[in-house]
Amino acid sequence: MNNDRLDAMLTRLKLTAIRDGLDTLLDEAARRDLNLREALTFLCEAEIARKDQRRVHMATSIAKFPYVRTLEGFDFQAQPSVDPKPIRELATGRWIANGDALLLLGPPGVGKTHLAVALGREAIHKGYSVLFTTATALMTTLTQAQAQGRLEERLTHYSKPKLLIVDELGYLPFESQAAHLFFQLVSRRYERGSLLITSNRSVGEGGEVFGDAVVATAILDRLLHHSHVITIRGESYRLREKRRAGLIRPASHLPGTEQAGKSNATTL
Ligand code: ADP
Ligand code: MG
Repeated sequence: MNNDRLDAMLTRLKLTAIRDGLDTLLDEAARRDLNLREALTFLCEAEIARKDQRRVHMATSIAKFPYVRTLEGFDFQAQPSVDPKPIRELATGRWIANGDALLLLGPPGVGKTHLAVALGREAIHKGYSVLFTTATALMTTLTQAQAQGRLEERLTHYSKPKLLIVDELGYLPFESQAAHLFFQLVSRRYERGSLLITSNRSVGEGGEVFGDAVVATAILDRLLHHSHVITIRGESYRLREKRRAGLIRPASHLPGTEQAGKSNATTL
């Protein structure tokens, strides 16, 4: 048989994994003594695996995660306030299919961004589009877009991904105009796509974060309607690691700091 012709046909059909690995795949099929139907299945599996890998790779670069983090890399033992069970349920992506919101709350360094990125990654593996942004970057972009008369365009951009992750909401309180812009985004995504928000503030502090109590109520109303809230407590993972390595003194020796586990203020 003419190898070039087969190569050209596989290229035309965009079956590049089969094309590039043909000799190896056929050898393997022969070694396993596969019949024609089984061999065809084996070749299709190789092609699908390559396509899935490409899709995940592409979707991951579009998502703009700040770093690579996985659920497997999350040490649940080091963070006893996080129950692995609901996290595993969230990893199935069902909450995204339902268009629910997820709030990850807690003080700095406890793993909020890590879990947000890890769940974003799981969402991509389940076939959902994801976009990661910080609250500050999001608000800067929306405010600028409004000034340039391109607000619609930007709101559409942030409404497209099935999951939008907004990291670090509440580190800086919003101006009332920014709170209004955020409200527009939340309304536009409401029941269409999921929002994952991380924050060092508690839900009760929404009024302070969004400046205006009326806008805050309207935002929280939509956010909390179909939502999952996970509150992480305890001390910063990095500090804990340093402390363990003896690089810094135990928390109890530092004046004005609470002991780990006691600083449990529910922290939007
Ligand atoms: P924050 O809650 O401020 O968003 P991060 O998620 O960025 O904190 O966590 C700070 C660093 O500590 C990151 O590098 C993260 O991967 C790591 N980290 C935090 N918690 C854990 C954990 N339980 N297991 C493994 N790494 C963790
Ligand atoms: Mg963070």
